[in-house]
Amino acid sequence: MCGIVGYIGSRDAKEILLHGLEKLEYRGYDSAGIFVINEENNGHLFKEKGRIAALRSKVDNAVEANAGIGHTRWATHGEPSVRNAHPHQSADGRFTIVHNGVIENYQEVKDAYLEHVDLVSETDTEIIVQLIAWFAETEDLDTVSAFKKAIVALEGSYAIALVDNTDPEVVYAAKNKSPLLLGKGDGFNVICSDAMAMIKETNQFVELMDKEIAVVTREELIIENFSGERIERQSYTAELDSNDLEKGTYPYYMLKEIDEQPAVMRRLVLKYQDEDDNLTIDPEIVSAMTKSDRIYIIAAGTSYHAGLVGKELIEEMTNIPTEVHISSEFGYHTPLLSENPFFIFISQSGETADSRQVLVKMNEMNYPSLTITNVAGSTLSRESTYTLLLHAGPEIAVASTKAYTAQIAVLAILSEVVGSEKGLIKEPNMIQDLGIVANAMQSLVDEKDTIESLASDYLSITRNAFYIGRGMDYHVALEAALKLKEISYIQTEGFAAGELKHGTIALIEKGTPVIALVTEKSVAGHTRGNLQETKARGAHTMVISMDGLDRPDDHIVIPKVNPILSPLVSVIPTQLLSYYCSLHRGNDVDKPRNLAKSVTVE
Ligand code: GLU
Repeated sequence: MCGIVGYIGSRDAKEILLHGLEKLEYRGYDSAGIFVINEENNGHLFKEKGRIAALRSKVDNAVEANAGIGHTRWATHGEPSVRNAHPHQSADGRFTIVHNGVIENYQEVKDAYLEHVDLVSETDTEIIVQLIAWFAETEDLDTVSAFKKAIVALEGSYAIALVDNTDPEVVYAAKNKSPLLLGKGDGFNVICSDAMAMIKETNQFVELMDKEIAVVTREELIIENFSGERIERQSYTAELDSNDLEKGTYPYYMLKEIDEQPAVMRRLVLKYQDEDDNLTIDPEIVSAMTKSDRIYIIAAGTSYHAGLVGKELIEEMTNIPTEVHISSEFGYHTPLLSENPFFIFISQSGETADSRQVLVKMNEMNYPSLTITNVAGSTLSRESTYTLLLHAGPEIAVASTKAYTAQIAVLAILSEVVGSEKGLIKEPNMIQDLGIVANAMQSLVDEKDTIESLASDYLSITRNAFYIGRGMDYHVALEAALKLKEISYIQTEGFAAGELKHGTIALIEKGTPVIALVTEKSVAGHTRGNLQETKARGAHTMVISMDGLDRPDDHIVIPKVNPILSPLVSVIPTQLLSYYCSLHRGNDVDKPRNLAKSVTVE
C-alpha cells in the first residue's frame, strides 16, 4: 500500500516523479504529492486530494528542479485530504519526507519529544519528520545521524524517503517491513516502492533491507546499517517489460488481466517444463514437502481463496494433510503445529505484511517455507526458504484475477510433481489438463456479451447477492463474492450451499440474486436443491454449471475440464460478472474505493 518515488539527477524531477507515481497508483490513490528541489535550494511542494491526475494538474510546470520525492497515499491515520497528504515537512521547513507504513508508537514519540511542536496533520508520518528536525537541532546532529536516531525511536513499519533542504545534492531512504528499492542510472539514481515505477528510467535495482539507511546522490548509492557499517550489495536486473504496464486498447486493466488468463496458463506450463517436456519443480522443494507431515498455507484475501483450492489439490495428489489459514489470524493465534510443518505463503505482490509477520515468526523457529508469488525478489520471496513464481506478468487492477488462477495452477503443478515423486501418481497429465483449462478459459472470455447481459439482468440494482456451491464450488463462491464486493460494492456472501438453511436463508427476499456453481458431480444435485430452496423464497437464481452436469435452463455452461481444476474455469464468468456490474454502476473498476493493492500494513 502506498507508493514512494525519489529521483536525483539532471533531468526534470517533477515529470519523472509524476510518471512514477502514476505507475504506483494501484498501491493507494486517496491523495498524492511531490516535493522537488533544485541546486539553488529552492524547494517546491505540491499536494492534492484524489488521484495523480489531480496532482498533475496542480503542479506548476515552470518549476525547475532535478531532485525530489513523491507519494501516493492509502490513508491509515487521518482522512484523505491535502493536509494529510505526503510529503510532510518539519516545522522549520528544513526536512521533507514521504512514508509508507504505520508508526505504531507515534503517540508515545509525540509525548516524549514533540510536545512543543504544533502538528499540522493527523498523520503518524508527520511525527517522523518533526523528530528528525528535533534531533538535528537540539543535538546538533548531521542529517544521517538525526535520521538514524529518529527511526531507532520508531516502532512499526516504514519505507521513508527524506530530503534535507540545506543539502539538495542528496536524497535519504530507510525501511523496516515496507518495501523499498534503489535504482541505479547513469548520472542519476532513483528510489521506489516497486520497480514498475522507474522501469522507464532503469532496470538496475538494489534492494534496501530492514534497518538500513541509503544515501543517494546523482553518482552514488551508499547503503549502511545503523552502526554506520557500509553494505555492498549487487544490483539485479528487473525483468519487466514496460509494455506490460500499459493497458493498450482495454478500457480497464482488469479486463485485460481477465483476458490474459489462458496465456498465463500456457506460459506456466512452459516455465515449469524440463527439456523432456515433463513438469519439474526444484527437487529441494519437493523433498522438503515430502518430508513434511502437515502443510500450512498462509495467505490473505484472494490468495487465501486460492489456498483453499490448493489444499484440495495438495491433499488429493500428495496425501499430505493441509490446513489453510488467514495470515492476520495465524500470526497472533498460532494453532498447535505438527512435528514437521511446511509452510506455503501465497501472495501476489510478495509484500503482504500480514503474511510476512507469520513468515518472520516461522523463520525464528527454523521451519521450511515456500512463497508462491508474482514478484521475484519481493520480501516474502527473499525471506522464505523457497520461491515459485506465478509468471503472470504485472497485475495492476486492484481486484486480482490472473494472479488467483496462476496461484492455483502453480499449486496444481507442485502437487502433481510431489505426488509423482511419492509414487502416488503413475500417469501425470497436468500439462494436458492445463492446456484444456486454457482453451476452456478462452471460450469463456470470448462469451463476454452473454455475461455482460447477465450482469445487467441480475446485478444492476440489487443491494445484496449470494454465490453458493459445495466443495471446490464453495471455494470459488468465496472468491466470486469477494470480487463482486470489492469492485461493485454490492454486499455479497459466498456460502456453502448446504449451510444456507441453517440461518442465512432468512436474508433471501424477492429478487435477491443467488448464483449457484455446479461443477462437482457428487454434490451437483444437492446444490441445485439448495438453489431451489432460495427460489421458492423469491430469489432470482442463476446457474453456472460444467458441461456434462448442465441442464437446459442453466445460464452459463463451462467446458468440461478435470474436476479438480474446475475453479480455474468456473471463476472466469464470476470475474466478468463483477467487472460488468462495476462498469455499469459507473465505478472505477481498477481502483475501487477504500482499497489498494499490495497490502503492506498489518
Ligand atoms: N500512515 C501514513 C498515513 O496515513 C502512510 C500511509 C501510506 O502508507 O500510504 O499517511
